[in-house]
Amino acid sequence: MSDSVQTLIVGGGLAGWCTARVLAGRSTVCLATMDPRADEQASSASALAGIANPLVGRRGHPVWQADRALAALERLIDDVGSDHVDRTPGVFHPAVSSWQVDDLRRSAQERPDLATWWDAPTVSERMPWLHAPRGALVIQRGCAFSVPALLEGMEADALDRGVVLRRGWRLTAWEEDADGVTADFETPSGPSSLRCSRLLLALGSGFETFDLLAALRLHSIKGQLVRVRPREFPPGVRAVQGSGYAVPRSDGTLVVGASYEHMFDDLAPSRDVSTELLARASEMLPWIADAEIVEERAGVRVTVPDTRLPMVGVLPGQQRTWVLTGLGSKGLLMAPLLADLLPGWLEHPDSIPHEVAIQLD
Ligand SMILES: Cc1cc2nc3c(=O)[nH]c(=O)nc-3n(C[C@H](O)[C@H](O)[C@H](O)COP(=O)(O)OP(=O)(O)OC[C@H]3O[C@@H](n4cnc5c(N)ncnc54)[C@H](O)[C@@H]3O)c2cc1C
Repeated sequence: MSDSVQTLIVGGGLAGWCTARVLAGRSTVCLATMDPRADEQASSASALAGIANPLVGRRGHPVWQADRALAALERLIDDVGSDHVDRTPGVFHPAVSSWQVDDLRRSAQERPDLATWWDAPTVSERMPWLHAPRGALVIQRGCAFSVPALLEGMEADALDRGVVLRRGWRLTAWEEDADGVTADFETPSGPSSLRCSRLLLALGSGFETFDLLAALRLHSIKGQLVRVRPREFPPGVRAVQGSGYAVPRSDGTLVVGASYEHMFDDLAPSRDVSTELLARASEMLPWIADAEIVEERAGVRVTVPDTRLPMVGVLPGQQRTWVLTGLGSKGLLMAPLLADLLPGWLEHPDSIPHEVAIQLD
């Protein structure tokens, strides 16, 4: 057994790194993750460019704790550096039907601090690159950026704060005793163990290999996206969400996503899915219809079927083992928020709001 820390976080995705940064000033922290490199395996990294949108779904409803989530994300991006993460401000959500016009317009009326409604003539005058014949919700507080760059920035920041990293370490088992937890790993140099006072599992779809976590009845959804290079790139393009989503990058490509596949055998991207994604996003951005495909990626989102909210808490039957999961397709807003709230919840587990607390029935 090599080390002993107060908090051992397992998982190097958005949840793991956001949490590691926040807990670093409060306890000794080690983050162990099975990804051999920063840009591999974590589903967070497969979201090459992601959107942080506080008004989601067809009706543009605010996400859970939208204001605090935006504030937490903005603080994180300030710490990591907005240039470093290729940030584009604002998200445009074109309406696809007349009923949606009413819903999105209402959303802007209820949250004018987050979004504004633009009718079709306004969109075509100000944003001629966007096809929105029924108008669009302009979510000024939304933004998009490179998720792998954000992960890299968080990792560098967390290491600066004293977090110890064990990369290429795969958790195989753990056991609690009266004084702490012993976690067993397969590592590049053979089996090893870490000792900690508290174990925090931020495993994403890695939950599937552990019976105790299977009891949480989480659901995995495969998501694929495709990076394309259009022949022409009009000026001023921003992130769009509606018929799928598209995020412009500073290298002249766009990331177009994402599929929702509830049944899947593997995580290999498929060219048919890429073609569908491109066709769908072309309804909003007709100039990308014949774009060249330069990269395809797929990952898994983990959801909590009943609540569709994250899930946090001590694993049932355990005292020192916590789980942080269910970020679904809102990891960019939920991970910084949960990380900010976690220190209080670790002290007072009863204060976890019931919406996100672990419930087994
Ligand atoms: C295609 C796609 C597009 C997306 N787009 C967006 C978007 O636009 N906006 C948005 O907010 N969200 C988006 N998401 C969702 C977002 O990526 C997820 O919410 C986020 O990845 C969840 O982070 P996580 O840390 O919980 O899980 P993950 O990122 O999957 O991280 C889990 C980590 O645990 C590690 N791990 C697993 N098992 C073990 C083990 N036994 N031992 C050691 N390590 C282990 C993994 O290697 C990984 O590092 C998208 C997701 C996908 C797939």
